[in-house]
Amino acid sequence: AHLARIEAVDEKVHAFLHVDREGALAQARAVDAKRARGEKLGPLAGVPLALKDIFTTEGVPTTVGSKILEGWIPPYDATVTKRLKAADVVILGKTNMDEFAMGSSTENSAYGPTGNPWDLTRIPGGSGGGSSASLAAYEAPLAIGTDTGGSIRQPAAVTGTVGVKPTYGGVSRYGMVAFSSSLDQGGPCARTVLDAALLHEVIAGHDPMDSTSIDAPVPAVVEAARNGSVQGMRVGVVKQFRGEHYQAGVMQRFDESVELLKELGAEVVELDCPSFDLGLSAYYLIAPSECSSNLARFDAMRYGLRVGDDGTRSAEDVTALTREAGFGDEVKRRVMLGTYALSSGYYDAYYGSAQKVRTLITRDFEKAFEQVDVIVSPTTPTTAFPIGERADDPMAMYLADLCTIPTNLAGNAAMSLPCGLAPEDGLPVGLQIIAPALKDDRLYKVGAAVE
Ligand code: GLN
Repeated sequence: AHLARIEAVDEKVHAFLHVDREGALAQARAVDAKRARGEKLGPLAGVPLALKDIFTTEGVPTTVGSKILEGWIPPYDATVTKRLKAADVVILGKTNMDEFAMGSSTENSAYGPTGNPWDLTRIPGGSGGGSSASLAAYEAPLAIGTDTGGSIRQPAAVTGTVGVKPTYGGVSRYGMVAFSSSLDQGGPCARTVLDAALLHEVIAGHDPMDSTSIDAPVPAVVEAARNGSVQGMRVGVVKQFRGEHYQAGVMQRFDESVELLKELGAEVVELDCPSFDLGLSAYYLIAPSECSSNLARFDAMRYGLRVGDDGTRSAEDVTALTREAGFGDEVKRRVMLGTYALSSGYYDAYYGSAQKVRTLITRDFEKAFEQVDVIVSPTTPTTAFPIGERADDPMAMYLADLCTIPTNLAGNAAMSLPCGLAPEDGLPVGLQIIAPALKDDRLYKVGAAVE
């Protein structure tokens, strides 16, 4: 049924870069056969899922939305892919994304944009716009995303779906193509809080293949999602998460959500987190710095595209020609920015200062979580904007992650879930819930209460 739905609508939506029809049917048949033999089935047996094209899949193309990996067939599965298969999930295919997960609209994909199913002329968010659009268009009931500065939560917000960035280290990064390794985090996307929890439980947990993976029990997210409540909880509202960049209808729905939390028995506390205002600036030094280092592996020698190798050119020239042809504008912009920020003489002034701001943001969170159990905010300052509107204005594009970036810098957990439609344009608004590191279960408890 989901493959038929994809066939019917994906020409318009373009959520998928690759539909693995044969693989999905084979997996579904294998689940049926297991059931017929009376074998124990995995926890999500037979449930279809859309996988962001940043996770390696053995025998199935993985492009990261880039020309530089066009046609690359990975020889191994990412840990997340492996765990999905072990849970008997049926992987439908790979979803569209901004190239190397750099963007907030999926317009930076080398393979063309994805439409927002609410209005196909608008962006589905990014970088994981393919995953969120596949959910909103009913092409898949579950999806996987990655969130470096908001790429799970912002797409969820603008498509009226649920997305969770787990605590950093909660979900293995092994086989997840690296953008900014100290910020990147895979996580679940779904249409309900409970569905997200069921998926979270399957993909999370310690992995010796990822040196930053946390060796601790997975928070009891499913139990929390089944027992939604905010009774007696302290909920923080951060002063810095409002102001000139925020759409009126987004703030209206957010303020109503805060009222609802009070009605349901939460105590609301106003918080001052002054360093959050510096989040975007710190992020756009740290993320490009790490990206410039991570993307050095795309040198035309190891894998992927190779341009100009005609026997007359040096290896250096072939690398340069390949990168020129294989990387898009946003990726090049960030590699240059990061290389500059890390260069000798500038390192302390740029990268060093950004790391100090990162520490200040982490301290703001620590102080906040002495007073409250969770923080709430709008997920993103505006609803889905028209495709093309911010394409030539990177600064305007970066603003989409104003509320999501602090969480990545601090490494704690956050969720976006729908909280109604903005009155002025009838488009979905996202409510963000933020919890301390390793307390991911609180996101689900609060999310299920207000869903
Ligand atoms: N939009 C942000 C960026 O462009 C975040 C992307 C992400 O979370 N992968 O970097």
